[in-house]
Amino acid sequence: MSGQVEGRPGIIVAGAGIVGLCVAWHLARGGAQVTVLDGEAPGSGASAGNAGAISAGSVAPLAMPGVLRQVPGMLLDRDGALHVPARYWPRAAPWLLRFVASARPARVAAIAEALSGLLFGAMERHREILAEEGALDLIRETGQLYLYRDRAHYAKDAGGWALRQQHGMRLEFLEGAEAIRALEPDMQGDYQLGLFVPEQGSCVNPLRLAQVVARGVERLGGTIRQEAVRALTTEAGRVTGVATASGVLPADQVVLAAGAWSARLLQPLGIQVPLETQRGYHVMLPDAGISLQRPVVPADRKAFISPMEGGLRIAGTVEFGGLEAPPTPRRAELLLEDLRRAFPQARTGGAEGFWMGHRPCLPDSLPVIGPVARWPGLWCAFGHGHLGLTGSAPTGAVLARAMLGPQPNLDLAPFAVERFG
Ligand SMILES: Cc1cc2nc3c(=O)[nH]c(=O)nc-3n(C[C@H](O)[C@H](O)[C@H](O)COP(=O)(O)OP(=O)(O)OC[C@H]3O[C@@H](n4cnc5c(N)ncnc54)[C@H](O)[C@@H]3O)c2cc1C
Repeated sequence: MSGQVEGRPGIIVAGAGIVGLCVAWHLARGGAQVTVLDGEAPGSGASAGNAGAISAGSVAPLAMPGVLRQVPGMLLDRDGALHVPARYWPRAAPWLLRFVASARPARVAAIAEALSGLLFGAMERHREILAEEGALDLIRETGQLYLYRDRAHYAKDAGGWALRQQHGMRLEFLEGAEAIRALEPDMQGDYQLGLFVPEQGSCVNPLRLAQVVARGVERLGGTIRQEAVRALTTEAGRVTGVATASGVLPADQVVLAAGAWSARLLQPLGIQVPLETQRGYHVMLPDAGISLQRPVVPADRKAFISPMEGGLRIAGTVEFGGLEAPPTPRRAELLLEDLRRAFPQARTGGAEGFWMGHRPCLPDSLPVIGPVARWPGLWCAFGHGHLGLTGSAPTGAVLARAMLGPQPNLDLAPFAVERFG
């Protein structure tokens, strides 16, 4: 099935989230024989329920200088933007130590430089796929709007915005609630400073996006199979395929793109990756009674309020807790509080339950993209954290070039799995 077909390289992509699908799309378009394997339907993981923000140029890592001061709040404030419950402290501790270590100014500058190369062209990379699939209606190019109470409130994020500006992000400051309402007339909260990012965009239905890209993979001759990968198979020091419930599937190359589940598949090969799920939530309001032109983000807890095809989606919050623990309904309720702060008139009665998904997060906010030096035949594309929708299309483009040629115009060294030792 995925072995060499008519001289074309046979490649298996493990994981049909938006990252794996964009990689598969570019590989298929580049002439490879691609099979995507996932135990679930395409786009069922984090890729289905995200906030839809395509945050091109969002190069500031999560751990910025001074992050250490925020750690006590993460551990103790159960309603904070990022919460680590006490039962999870022992498991989270090594990750948090690496997270804090990555906030050194020199390291932050290097991370931003690497992310800049990956993320600045994100809108173009998404457009490239969707234009070919006849689905440009899935993205809007109306920017994103961040809301701050005043300049003092803004000060907590000023370093991150300055870093993005240094890398070329265009920002417009909106002084006063009236200036904010000129862009979003329904904003009625107590926010006096808006930050408009005109060159960012959004997706109005992330699940449909994944489905469109999956159909595109098939249109280009690839195969999508609903079957989980149980293990990567190896022979004579290289990865030779995958094992599934129905047997061993050989491949010339394997791309590991299983989101927050990726580290489990690497472990048997002796590769330890500090991949942690940052659980996020969303609530959908089919009839909120307000109209938005773009994602609006009250900066208190940074919930994204995104207009989508199915209504208004309020998405965000970060909770540690692992892949198996049940969701925490309180985290989803916080999202409605965030909505009411900016849009007190919004109707929240019709909320359709809530959704939880697993952001695949590495402590330095850089995804793993590229070959695994110790295991020829194995490539990685996971760990995109809070920016996996944004980074999916660029990752697909760059990884396909690294695998099929010509040489990518992005240095993949900062994204190497080997950086974790
Ligand atoms: C609440 C929330 C809001 C977000 N908002 C945004 C946003 O606005 N903008 C943005 O850019 N990003 C956002 N993100 C992050 C983004 O959604 C993720 O980074 C991205 O979806 C990750 O894509 P992925 O393909 O790596 O992982 P996933 O979408 O999780 O896909 C991984 C896939 O691998 C499969 N899999 C697991 N194990 C195996 C196996 N053994 N074999 C085969 N397949 C396997 C899973 O079934 C799954 O389908 C948000 C995330 C959350 C949770």
